[in-house]
Amino acid sequence: MAGRDYPRIIVPPPGPNARAIVSRDHDWTSTCYIKEYPLVVARGQGAMVEDVDGNRFLDFMAGIAVASTGHSHPRVVAAMQEAAGRFLHICGGDFYYEAMAALCERLARLAPGSSKKRVFLTNSGTEAVEAAIKLARYATRRTAIVAFRGAFHGRSTGAVTLTSSKARQHAGFGPLLPDVHHVPFGYRYRCDFCAVEPACNRGCIDVIEQELFTRHLDPTDVAAIIVEPIQGEGGYIPAPPGYLPALRELCDRHGILLVADEVQTGVGRTGKMFACEFDSVEPDILLAAKGLGSGMPIGAMISRESITTWPPGSHGSTFGGNPVCCAAALATLDLVEGGLMANAARMGERLMAGASGLMERHSCIGDVRGRGLMVGVELVKDRATREPHSELLRGLVQRAFRQGVLFLGAGKSTLRLAPPLVVDETDVDTALHMIDACLAELD
Ligand SMILES: *Cc1c(COP(=O)(O)O)cnc(C)c1O
Repeated sequence: MAGRDYPRIIVPPPGPNARAIVSRDHDWTSTCYIKEYPLVVARGQGAMVEDVDGNRFLDFMAGIAVASTGHSHPRVVAAMQEAAGRFLHICGGDFYYEAMAALCERLARLAPGSSKKRVFLTNSGTEAVEAAIKLARYATRRTAIVAFRGAFHGRSTGAVTLTSSKARQHAGFGPLLPDVHHVPFGYRYRCDFCAVEPACNRGCIDVIEQELFTRHLDPTDVAAIIVEPIQGEGGYIPAPPGYLPALRELCDRHGILLVADEVQTGVGRTGKMFACEFDSVEPDILLAAKGLGSGMPIGAMISRESITTWPPGSHGSTFGGNPVCCAAALATLDLVEGGLMANAARMGERLMAGASGLMERHSCIGDVRGRGLMVGVELVKDRATREPHSELLRGLVQRAFRQGVLFLGAGKSTLRLAPPLVVDETDVDTALHMIDACLAELD
């Protein structure tokens, strides 16, 4: 597009200004941070991120699928400025303000299904998961929770117990929450039951009933099954068609609550407000966070009113539902409903088609999958053995960064494509060309 001024690399990153900040950061920040590559951000606008040396990058990761409306969208910034000029905090747990009531009403109405919902606001995805664990246990008076292998639900001790993505996330932190059980996810490309079948046979759901519930765990002890409709950190893996409805049925049979963790999939990224809508499934509890505030820390636990039985004081948060964050979330929802969700669907089709097209040119691409602007490109050493090609993924992400496109990996060897929902055709094509060029050079 004429006049587009990104990607633009004027000094090989990290440039001198970036190097100084990286070195200071390494001296003082805690040792657990990963730091995927030495990107040092000065500002952003839309799908463009500029570093402290004047390099401009196309952002195809949105700060882990968070900057949903693009960087510093003027309407989000204006809404926050207006709110910040009035008051910064009063504590929504103890007092009232319009933005909190408005956001809770809006999310309750947007959540899939016809039953009345109620909303608890948090500061993060992890806190939304934590709230769901507590509410599910409280409402059912049962203790066990079933989660999926490869799942990511966050880092606090309860949420990280549900997480089953990398052993390092658990190592040294035990004992974790008792009575959490992990079962295989419907990861079609690597499924023990049906990877080579033409369609998913839901064998991994049958084992919940036939193995777990008959041999190890009585279903009447299970409070909840928690599922990501598309596994995020695990590798951008959509649950197969019919999978969520089958889980819904399983839950209904045993009085188990179905928790949909839409922290990454929610708020328009998939082309629908929530990914559960593709299967017309109404979860009992739905969690949102990442894209909800366009970057401001806000999450939500949306639960059916009939199970929202916990009394005043049983749960709470000092900062959750901060008024400036609520303003950001309301402006974000305006933009998502006002066109960005439709754009995500349209651009997602272009991205899927383009990435699938790359399979013809690159035998290292084993699988392309996703919905909307949540697309995974899984890299393998060999299409026959499907051996994950982690080094190639690392090489691609590093090389693309040095040439001006920001990517992130997910799972063992999947390139995660999760740009801000504002990307246009040129952005999508630029990202696809970058993948093509990097794979041509590296593989
Ligand atoms: C990122 C993520 C979380 C944790 O969210 P934080 O805001 O990092 O606490 C939980 N669930 C899913 C599906 C996520 O992608």
